[in-house]
Amino acid sequence: MTKIDISDRLKRLPPYLFVEIDREKKRALDKGRDIIDLGVGDPDQPTPGYIINALNKAVRDPSTHHYALDNGMKELRVEIARWYKERFGVELDPDSEILPLIGSKEGIAHMPLAFINPGEIALVPNPCYPPYRSGVILAGGEIHDMPLEEENSFLPRVDSIERSVLERARLMYLNYPNNPTGVPCDKDFYQRVVEFGLKNDIIISSDAAYTEMSYDGYSQPSFLEVENAKKIGVEFHSLSKTYNMTGWRIGWVCGNRDIIAGIAKVKSNIDSGVFNAIQRAGIAALKGPKSEIDKMKRLYQDRRDVLVKGLNSIGWQVTKPKTTFYLWAKTLGGRDSASMCKTLLNEVDVVMTPGVGFGSYGEGYVRMALTVPKERLKEAVDRIKKIV
Ligand SMILES: *Cc1c(COP(=O)(O)O)cnc(C)c1O
Repeated sequence: MTKIDISDRLKRLPPYLFVEIDREKKRALDKGRDIIDLGVGDPDQPTPGYIINALNKAVRDPSTHHYALDNGMKELRVEIARWYKERFGVELDPDSEILPLIGSKEGIAHMPLAFINPGEIALVPNPCYPPYRSGVILAGGEIHDMPLEEENSFLPRVDSIERSVLERARLMYLNYPNNPTGVPCDKDFYQRVVEFGLKNDIIISSDAAYTEMSYDGYSQPSFLEVENAKKIGVEFHSLSKTYNMTGWRIGWVCGNRDIIAGIAKVKSNIDSGVFNAIQRAGIAALKGPKSEIDKMKRLYQDRRDVLVKGLNSIGWQVTKPKTTFYLWAKTLGGRDSASMCKTLLNEVDVVMTPGVGFGSYGEGYVRMALTVPKERLKEAVDRIKKIV
């Protein structure tokens, strides 16, 4: 039999560090064990009914059944522009500054193909959402880690990056509210990053998937609110988390028109856009009542309070995240994150994500997703108590 060899670029992808925990979770589920899964960052609630109704109607209209336009439906781009203006006060031109995506992950992973030559560098947070790394590697680029550390509020220290790195760097990824650490950032930080990007000729890519998920009255700004941001950057957004639409695959990138054009050029050679009926459902989502978002926030805030209070009561000190639906907690007794997660699964049937899976600076932490009901979170605390 011939040996099928994979490309060098695939071989350069970092090992998938969740493999082992995924395998063990599957084995436990197959055995019928009652697993409480805090591992997956996917909302457990259904997509709101008014969005499903809009899809239902759209899918029955044969005009939606054809190839979508590469740059998406005009009505969707206009609606996104309206939403950005209302939510952030940011003006966007629907024709040149907004591009719908098949989920933001798709655009995030394709972006380096447009801007990174082999040997050039992307500045990537560590820990981070894995597609930033893999997109750069698939494009033949190199990664320079920007450590996110607790003592710096999980913000990168952009001023400490060496000259030699800056000379070859083309692109920087940022993500606030942040997965996996659950922290937001303020406009001063964005202002510094914009100045840094302009000075060093580095494109800024802000991933804003969690801007609507914030608690205790906090409101996360957009990167594009800052003066001159549009000269050097773009922002990725998504309906996935805000409207419980992870499976639908719809998001967008907006901001600098030349950067948008570059991403569009890559995509026009690879995909054929978002299904028109889903774009119409996306319009309905953005036009929908704000009360749906408030309901979503109350649900996660409630769960967050239950889990944090419970863990603190059994001696596991964790802090309340202001944003996202993740708790980023130091492992118990300084254990390494993988063995902590193995113990949790094997001994008390609770799944968490080992921090090291998001990058070396995630070591010493685990991530819990608030995607199970309150009663199950209480049950999880009772179980975890046995191994504290
Ligand atoms: C969930 C998530 C997204 C959203 O991805 P989609 O492809 O739009 O579903 C983007 N960025 C981060 C950091 C996420 O955690």
